[in-house]
Amino acid sequence: MADQLIRATAADDGIRAVGVITTRLIEEARQRHQMSYVATAALGRTMSAGLLLASSMKQAQARVNIRVKGDGPLQGVLVDAGLDGTVRGYVTNPTVELPPNAQGKLDVGGAVGHTGYLYVVRDIGYGYPYSSTVELVSGEIGEDVTHYLVTSEQTPSALALGVFVGAQGVTAAGGLLIQVLPKAARDQALVDLLESRLSHLKGFTPLLQAGKTLPEIFEDLLGDLGLNIFPQRQMVRFQCRCSFERVLGALKLLGQAELQDMIEKDDGAEATCDFCGEVYQATSLQLEQLIDDLSTEAEA
Ligand code: ZN
Repeated sequence: MADQLIRATAADDGIRAVGVITTRLIEEARQRHQMSYVATAALGRTMSAGLLLASSMKQAQARVNIRVKGDGPLQGVLVDAGLDGTVRGYVTNPTVELPPNAQGKLDVGGAVGHTGYLYVVRDIGYGYPYSSTVELVSGEIGEDVTHYLVTSEQTPSALALGVFVGAQGVTAAGGLLIQVLPKAARDQALVDLLESRLSHLKGFTPLLQAGKTLPEIFEDLLGDLGLNIFPQRQMVRFQCRCSFERVLGALKLLGQAELQDMIEKDDGAEATCDFCGEVYQATSLQLEQLIDDLSTEAEA
């Protein structure tokens, strides 16, 4: 199944459900950043979560940033996802590998760290981003983002995230978010029913590996609750927002003396984008142009 995001409602619009398949885009991230298995799982879960959170925003330019800062060896995870279906991200220490946890699974919680913070920034595209912070629950990402949704956004939410990564790379990945909206949130029986159904869901990736499609998974979970799957399927993809122009802009901020130093010592400059790993080379001639720009601006 191609990478995609599907939305649905149930219980007379009292339940909102979003599912996303992210297998290919997480494999692209793994290759770009040369990530270990556990780093791929940590970043992949966070990328899926970012797309799921962004999907509920209204403005076309809206984006969500998720930063996870734990006390584990991965050191940090940063993801930037948009309502437009684009996502990018990286971990600070991509080569960390750990033995499997007690359940025989990739030890994402151990790599991220069990204590620390999850920061979520929602930016609707007109400035004034809204940010909030919660303490990590386990560092497994899914539980941490759920904790954020329930405490910061006060929305009863159930979230399943999964990344299956092996010698062939990422072969199944995605996530599922089910939320009880304010009109139905007082219906405790409905909230309990959803929580029990999701807790019986034994991971998300096994369903994908068994060949289940997102509509089939929705049907299994919400089919008896007036499920309405929206026909539009949104494509999602890894896409960075860096460019050579932005790199030149950043170099310019270093100032004349630093630029002159780069010309004399390195005959140019090299910059690598943290988000996508793209390497940009600026020649001495281009750096001289920046110095000229700076002196023209200083005179003006
Ligand atoms: Zn980039």
